[in-house]
Amino acid sequence: MTINQNIKPVTVERKENLFVGGCDLTQLAKQYGTPLYVIDEDTLRGICNDYKQAFKKYPYTKMMYASKALCTSAVAKILDSEGFGFDTVSIGEIYTVLNAGISLEKVLFNGNNKTERELDFAIKNGIGRISVDNFAEIDLISNVCAKYNKTIDVLLRITPGIECHTHEYIQTGQLDSKFGFDLSQIDDVITKITSAHQNIKIRGLHAHIGSQIFEPKCFHDEIDVLIQEISRIERKFGIKLDEINIGGGIGVKYTENDTPPSIDEIANVIIESLEKHVEKYNAKPPTLYIEPGRSIISTSGVTLYTVGSMKQVPNMTKYVTIDGGMADNPRPSMYQAEYIAELVNEHSNRPLEKVTIAGRFCESGDILINNIELPKLESGDILCVYNTGSYNYSMASNYNRVEKPAMVLVKDGKSDIIVYRETLEDIIAHDSIPDRLK
Ligand SMILES: *Cc1c(COP(=O)(O)O)cnc(C)c1O
Repeated sequence: MTINQNIKPVTVERKENLFVGGCDLTQLAKQYGTPLYVIDEDTLRGICNDYKQAFKKYPYTKMMYASKALCTSAVAKILDSEGFGFDTVSIGEIYTVLNAGISLEKVLFNGNNKTERELDFAIKNGIGRISVDNFAEIDLISNVCAKYNKTIDVLLRITPGIECHTHEYIQTGQLDSKFGFDLSQIDDVITKITSAHQNIKIRGLHAHIGSQIFEPKCFHDEIDVLIQEISRIERKFGIKLDEINIGGGIGVKYTENDTPPSIDEIANVIIESLEKHVEKYNAKPPTLYIEPGRSIISTSGVTLYTVGSMKQVPNMTKYVTIDGGMADNPRPSMYQAEYIAELVNEHSNRPLEKVTIAGRFCESGDILINNIELPKLESGDILCVYNTGSYNYSMASNYNRVEKPAMVLVKDGKSDIIVYRETLEDIIAHDSIPDRLK
């Protein structure tokens, strides 16, 4: 078992109330208010350790945390202390990592429309790698490098013709994707870079084949494509590429229906595929980059809500409304993502009841959990939704002008704020009233 196979943080404990990280969640709700994001440090460091143990057998592995899953300064600090680098996709993420005192040398800049401002900031501050995604970007990167008299190491982002989400696996010669180069364009990319842009050094290939992947074989097939392409490039152009980045996408367990493989199973498939090729081509083992996001941070996060109003539709659904919803967790309304929840406060002798947990935002689609059996809820109860560490805060909005929640880090019975709750002043901070309206 590795931590991505758990729904709940490793420190979850039921006394009278529910505890995470040694903290009584009713107390956290009282102290910090709700909705509240809670991150359990032991779970986060535990999954980092799962990855490190699983990839120990291949010492050329570099782990890059895909920071788009959850990018805050404190989270960056923890990942840095665990020896992870960072996969970033915007100047905001790069700025967060830099501001946490982390060297950009171990940061990769990735994305399908990096602006000149973003590339300028990244290159000026010494970004370690850029994943080149399209033709237009090549000139931009080269110009910025010239401006600072630097050379830059790049990977070429390719679409390997493999896409994998959960158990769904698509393999085609070409993939209709907005990311990266089609394999048929690679020769032109290499010719363009090597003939005209001496300040760009191609170090390897990069791909990312999906998210919430449960099928280790997808990574095997991806590595096949990447390695074959690398050896083809070497034969045709005489360029040795010694880095492959296989992206992220490793699955987590949101509900009992999810059956992600362990990190060990995935690592074994990846390492075996690499070693097979190294043997076959008698090649030097390439540096392997992996970029897990969701599987690093998801399980360590829970969200606390306070139960408010209820509505029983006669002979139909009973809606229980909480004080958050689609603005702090847009995943259920965006792509029918499923979560489970547990009543935090002591609730002995309450009968079970099937309810639908509705959000407080003004959209009928703002339903957090459909049809879940819970002890009969009462107004003022605290509800804990599990596995909300990834793609919740990072996708949060101020829809309905609701302040974004706070986030606390818990460990050994202590809690620390890592993101302050937004205030009403924050809500209007960027508003401006033209003089003629005053
Ligand atoms: C989103 C993304 C990741 C992380 O994906 P997860 O599903 O969160 O692990 C890694 N690499 C790239 C290029 C991505 O776009």
